[in-house]
Amino acid sequence: MTAVELLALPDLELFARADHSCRATFGPSVFLRGLLEVSNRCVRDCLYCGIRRSNSKVRRYSMGDDEIVAAVARGHEAGLRSFVLQGGEDPDFTPDRLARLASRLRQRLGEDSALVLSFGTMHKSDYQAIKSGGADRYLIRFETSDEDLHTRLRGSPLARRLSAIDDLKALGFEVGTGFMTGLPGSTEESLAADVALAASIGPDMIGIGPFIPHPGTPLGESEGRGLGPALRAVAALRLLLPEANMPATTAAGSVAPDGRERMLAAGANVLMPNIGPVDAKRDYELYPGKICLDEDGLSCIGCLSIRAMTVGKRLDRSRGDSPSFERRAALARSRESGPRAEIAGRHNAEAGRHNAEAGRHNAEAGRHNAEAVTHSPDCAQGA
Ligand code: SF4
Repeated sequence: MTAVELLALPDLELFARADHSCRATFGPSVFLRGLLEVSNRCVRDCLYCGIRRSNSKVRRYSMGDDEIVAAVARGHEAGLRSFVLQGGEDPDFTPDRLARLASRLRQRLGEDSALVLSFGTMHKSDYQAIKSGGADRYLIRFETSDEDLHTRLRGSPLARRLSAIDDLKALGFEVGTGFMTGLPGSTEESLAADVALAASIGPDMIGIGPFIPHPGTPLGESEGRGLGPALRAVAALRLLLPEANMPATTAAGSVAPDGRERMLAAGANVLMPNIGPVDAKRDYELYPGKICLDEDGLSCIGCLSIRAMTVGKRLDRSRGDSPSFERRAALARSRESGPRAEIAGRHNAEAGRHNAEAGRHNAEAGRHNAEAVTHSPDCAQGA
């Protein structure tokens, strides 16, 4: 089915299909990612963003490398095995520094942990340097598939971000992207176009959050559209990309108290506790009403566990690679080890694809069940 067809489904049916597909691939697991917002300085001026350069009310901070390594090490000691470092486009975080930081973190973490960076567009050679340093994942959201809107909102062309994603994929990163739903001027058609673009990229991770107007920005008077479009986008993408990791985003929990649970029930399979210092968290205000600012992120994990349980899922602290990425990585390793290993690697990749296919069949079977429930409310009540 296409993005348009999926988004035309009734919500209950769409969410039930997506939930079934998610469970067919990941079971009840919800992967945890320790999020660290390392700097709220930014040279850019995106119209929707609370920490944009022109917002003079923001108290700026930029973490030092020792502080970052210590925060990540604390998360590692608490059992987390996947860490996301993100920041504004802070000139202090040069590619060289990020490469050195990735190397320090890799030494500290060993190979059992994933290291995700999200620092915007760079030259391909810079991405290569941070990958050689030890980063294995990179997130770069495109925010909107509408080229004019992208240029207006971000002051830079969409094509630049898409070509950065191509570079990251070519370098063998596990790549994430995503977008914002409900931006001013967006429509049901533009939502379908956003979903279709995300699916066409074929990412390993997709983050989707609702636009929340920030009073300190030029879009502060605009109206948000709430959680609905974000939930529908997550569910549609789960069906288009069954193996992608998809967070139940903090923005979803900020527009609705049960937003993250609803996203987990609509196909998301990741939660991202913020493990940064409490002061820094308060100052990284991309949008107003951001949740979980006053607690230590590691102590949030108990709360997240309960939230996951309410939708029949459970937390998983492992690094949680996307199955499609695992197959690509296995094939790349086998290529490095010679022709015979490559043939074995291809067989494994093929077996993985069959498993994924079997998962999709299960999801399809679930869809029929979901349809039965959707179309027979009396039976559902009787059960
Ligand atoms: S969205 Fe990112 S690049 Fe744009 S102003 Fe905010 S932090 Fe900077």
